[in-house]
Amino acid sequence: MDFPASLARSRARLYAALISLVAATYPAFAQAPSLPPFLELRVPKPPTIASGEKGSFFAHELHVTNFMADTVTLKQVQVLTRGANQRALLSVSDSALRTSIARPGIAGPVTHPVKIAGGARAVVYLWVQIDPRSAPDTIVHRVTIEQGRSDSARTQQLDGARVPVARQAADIGPPLRGGVWLTANGPSNASGHRRALIPIDGKPSIAQRFAIDYVKVDDKTRRSTGDSLKNANYYAQGVDALAVADGIIVAIKDSIPENIPGIMSRAVPITLETVGGNHVIIDMQDGRYAFYAHLQPGSLRVKVGDRVRRGQVLGLVGNSGNSTEPHLHFHISDGNSPLGSEGMPYGHTSFEIVGHCRTFGSECERQKPTTRNGEQPMENTLVRFPE
Ligand SMILES: [Zn+2]
Repeated sequence: MDFPASLARSRARLYAALISLVAATYPAFAQAPSLPPFLELRVPKPPTIASGEKGSFFAHELHVTNFMADTVTLKQVQVLTRGANQRALLSVSDSALRTSIARPGIAGPVTHPVKIAGGARAVVYLWVQIDPRSAPDTIVHRVTIEQGRSDSARTQQLDGARVPVARQAADIGPPLRGGVWLTANGPSNASGHRRALIPIDGKPSIAQRFAIDYVKVDDKTRRSTGDSLKNANYYAQGVDALAVADGIIVAIKDSIPENIPGIMSRAVPITLETVGGNHVIIDMQDGRYAFYAHLQPGSLRVKVGDRVRRGQVLGLVGNSGNSTEPHLHFHISDGNSPLGSEGMPYGHTSFEIVGHCRTFGSECERQKPTTRNGEQPMENTLVRFPE
């Protein structure tokens, strides 16, 4: 029986027929309504469910690349569950779509409507709040586009990029003691860290997807006292940075001098080597790596190969590398590389929320402290860790 061979021959004939159809209708090919839009839909890092002040969520990006010659208009992006009872977990369109998008290599703000030229890419930043009781195992992305000029424009949809959703955000200890700490540039869909898509070794990734710049503040949410050009006058300066988990030290950097705070100067040229300043990376030995940046030179208490325990002092918070004032940059990612890895969410076993700021350090309001367990602190929150 040569069933597989005959199947292969019939499939080959079908492909040949398709190709000749395309060739025969080439001048009108762009108008062929039966063909799906030639877009690449790609999710570089499948998401992991985490928990924040507003409930459970996951956050990831959909890269939409236009493989056609004609410009298309991106009308809507949806995140859907799979299966018989398919439902939309998130639908983004209009101005919400515009503010959720970055376009690599194209200067200026993204305007509405969102156009993707031939060969160009839009990166859609997705933040999906979910009910943890019906959390999906897999999601599908559906994009709606418009092609052609206004008198002949037509709308098409494309489903693609099925991705698994992981459930185990890391449960970690505090990176610092006490507080109050302001979670500057912390997790949100628009924070500076979240949007830092950086190609390293030819692969774009967002190591800082859930990073936080911890800035210590007093009861009036001031970050320093006295002369603000002196590192020593900042409340964060010189406090202990703590191991959030047991693990093995796999990278350190030391001896980078500190910057003068308050001005945009840097003590050393900023390169891939110096961007994190003096830093430590812990291999948590579960596929996750904890990264601590901008430490004081000479303050590191660990070396590569050391086994550390949760709560152990790693070094002292400082102002080295790409930093404007003493603070701890902390994130967890999936690789031993400060920027060439993918950021992963986490939850702190226990901390308190004591207030919120509208923007970095301004329009802050205190609240009655509430204890949070297993949550990821969000952007511009005032938090306190156990002493
Ligand atoms: Zn940072």
